[in-house]
Amino acid sequence: NEFEDYFLKRELLMGIFEKGFEKPSPIQEESIPIALTGSDILARAKNGTGKTAAFCIPVLEKIDQVNNVIQAVILVPTRELALQTSHVCKELGKHMNIQIMVTTGGTSLKDDIMRLHQPVHLLVGTPGRILDLAKRGICKLKDCAMLAMDEADKLLTPDFQPTVEQLIHFMPADRQILMFSATYPATVKEFKDRYLRNPYIVNL
Ligand code: AMP
Repeated sequence: NEFEDYFLKRELLMGIFEKGFEKPSPIQEESIPIALTGSDILARAKNGTGKTAAFCIPVLEKIDQVNNVIQAVILVPTRELALQTSHVCKELGKHMNIQIMVTTGGTSLKDDIMRLHQPVHLLVGTPGRILDLAKRGICKLKDCAMLAMDEADKLLTPDFQPTVEQLIHFMPADRQILMFSATYPATVKEFKDRYLRNPYIVNL
């Protein structure tokens, strides 16, 4: 398998190769073509497997650069992971005109509100701040058809889970969910049964 096999936009392929990726890793090989078809995914994957690019590549590919609305959200449990993940997206999408915004708790809400006055295609952040912005009507998610969840087991701990569920309700009913989790506790299974439709399961 080669990255060329996925018929990605040329600009995205350039970003992938410039990052030094030559071939898809096993998790990417399993996830990318399926995600590109629009199917939901539940993947069990540890750090170091290339899981970040496994969801960032399809998300970047599917964003319509000329439609200035939020089309995808990448949810992560911590600010550090949000910064790392947005950095990966910015590198992979270096040659694309995709506007990426990071938003997490512990930073200025005012700055986020200002930033959201400008175009944002992809939002990377933690659940609490994104829900806050959605509830205020500042962050509009009605056209956000893709949700990626990294470290889903951590996103679905008791303090985060209700926030994540509320957030999903701001998105369209036919959104696609790409869920990545290192472990598979009951909370992840329950969430899968409730919100994912006929998900493709990746177990590596
Ligand atoms: P992750 O599991 O997402 O934390 O990625 C682990 C490391 O693998 C990161 O340093 C990535 O940049 C790198 N990586 C991801 N995909 C590939 C690939 N297809 N080829 C080479 N390195 C990769």
